[in-house]
Amino acid sequence: MLLTISILGAPGAGKGTQATLLSKKLGLPHISSGDIFRENIKNQTDLGKLAKTYIDQGELVPDDVTILMIKDRLSRPDCAKGTILDGFPRTPAQAIALDEMLKELNTRVDLVPFIDVEDDVLINRLSGRWTCRESGHIYHTTFNPPRVQGICNIDGSELYQRDDDTAETAKHRIQVYREQTSPLIDHYKNVGILEVINGDQYIEHVCRDIMAVVPKKFKK
Ligand code: AMP
Repeated sequence: MLLTISILGAPGAGKGTQATLLSKKLGLPHISSGDIFRENIKNQTDLGKLAKTYIDQGELVPDDVTILMIKDRLSRPDCAKGTILDGFPRTPAQAIALDEMLKELNTRVDLVPFIDVEDDVLINRLSGRWTCRESGHIYHTTFNPPRVQGICNIDGSELYQRDDDTAETAKHRIQVYREQTSPLIDHYKNVGILEVINGDQYIEHVCRDIMAVVPKKFKK
């Protein structure tokens, strides 16, 4: 049975952390548009070079490029049972494109957990965030420190601070989110699949609240 979940929330709300947990619990691939861009930047592809100019400024990568990239990812065999989308869609045009992509696969977005967090908490989180170089696992100096400083608990790789996690770029990313992404809250509310989740809680409690709104038939 196909299940598509798209996690919505501001930068720093915990989308990546929750998508990683849900992916494990539900046995579905975690697809993060930000991670795919970062992978392309690391490999110095044309897409990576283009994306970097936007990401470093805290701007969104243009819709056409982003949509094609996600379309390609969703066409891979591991998405046959469904996906946990993290950071896509981020604009109304991307939401429409996603609906079209899924329609071709005879399916649709089933659930949009909106992780709700206040702005001052977001900025605090982003500027203390450390990311693992190997697989993008996420830590925070105060709220979720790694067991050994600078090393990922899960795969032992080095932790680094993303260039776009500085306080100034973080503020701009939150503003971009308000202007371009937050209209999706009403869009998915109108579709009837939005679930507001309090994101200012322990990671496990946020995950518990999301799992509580996943329809029973999809849980293993
Ligand atoms: P994230 O890792 O989700 O915080 O994304 C990091 C950056 O990648 C964002 O600030 C954007 O510049 C870019 N990005 C990620 N997802 C998208 C998207 N769906 N549309 C446009 N840009 C995106």
